[in-house]
Amino acid sequence: MTFENKRAAGIKSSPSMAIAMAAKKLAAEGRDIIDLSLGEPDFESPAHVAEAAAEAIRKGRVRYGAAAGTESLRQAIVVKFSRENQLDYTVDEVMVANGAKQILFDVFLATLEQGDEVIIPTPCWVSYGDIVSLHGGEPVYVSCGPEAGFKIDAATLEASITPKTRWLMLNSPSNPTGAIYSQAEYQALGGVLARHPRVLVISDEIYEHVLLKDVPFVSFAQACPELRDRTLIVNGVSKAYAMTGWRVGYAAGPKALIAALNKMQSQSVTSVCTIAQAAALAALTGDQAFVGKGAQTFAGRAKIVADRLAQIEGLDFTPPDGAFYAFIGVQRLLGRRTATGDILDDDPAFAAHLLQQFGLSSVPGAAFGAPGFIRLSIAASDRELEGACDRLAAMVGSLK
Ligand code: PLP
Repeated sequence: MTFENKRAAGIKSSPSMAIAMAAKKLAAEGRDIIDLSLGEPDFESPAHVAEAAAEAIRKGRVRYGAAAGTESLRQAIVVKFSRENQLDYTVDEVMVANGAKQILFDVFLATLEQGDEVIIPTPCWVSYGDIVSLHGGEPVYVSCGPEAGFKIDAATLEASITPKTRWLMLNSPSNPTGAIYSQAEYQALGGVLARHPRVLVISDEIYEHVLLKDVPFVSFAQACPELRDRTLIVNGVSKAYAMTGWRVGYAAGPKALIAALNKMQSQSVTSVCTIAQAAALAALTGDQAFVGKGAQTFAGRAKIVADRLAQIEGLDFTPPDGAFYAFIGVQRLLGRRTATGDILDDDPAFAAHLLQQFGLSSVPGAAFGAPGFIRLSIAASDRELEGACDRLAAMVGSLK
């Protein structure tokens, strides 16, 4: 019997989660696996965050909350945008959801008509396209390769817009490439969008604080203030504060759009867990040293990986400016044979061989709309990263 409707049947489960599960299964069978497939900080959430959650439980703050998020957390989000991005929002222009991911569900559920197009520059995060499709939209993938710095430019954007375009989906720093848009690059995109008043912008800024070099982060809303009424900023505490499991994301945008997202929340999840919101409040209002230390740690790891990958013949790799991934070109190795004579035709075959024979779990570029690459998360210990590079080198060295 089939249970799924056409919409559900038309999408797949998150590929990075599926690969992580496959790696876990092999490890449970006793295989020695280094799993670099999932993107989450490998350190504990700050202690004061956990304490704030415990305090919320002790004080009985365990009732339903407002659909938009608790007043105190929304106020803290307003302060965050002012302090870190020089952006002025009011409390009713921000909202809280179960992670940045749920904001995307809310926004597409609330705004897309059947067949509306969403422009998604690729490589892109694995979930964007399927979330759009699930809500009746048409993902329009626009390939932005290494020669373009993995970023969409004004001319390409202009050429991608049609009368059906509803949203442009931006993500800087990017998962999987680590590319960061500059103020000037955003302004050039803003110039195009000014000529297309129906097109709205989602700026996914979840990796805002994971900066690996001297390349500065700029919020899209900061770079293009004239588009404020058409811009939704998506962010959250998952990556900056190592709080992936707490499930707290937040958005800022025009009041009417935020009200529409809140309406979706009120009829779906009711509110985000109030205990997790107390923890997120502590993260945003407490000592921010944790955030900088995390970025420093990731920068050190990115350097280890970059130095090692540079020594492996056949790989193409540009060290990332932000986020915590190494997005590695394996195109030149495709078509080669393994020791057992199998031809590695594409990046999924490459990643499968790397996992099965060499015990290193990665995500193939195809999952990000970018065939010919694999992604390794660098959110792992120096030892694991060294081990991962040894395994990748051994695999590449074994190809004929
Ligand atoms: N956006 C991007 C680009 C991501 O990589 C992720 C998580 O991997 C998310 C959003 C989801 O974040 P959250 O944990 O807040 O749902």
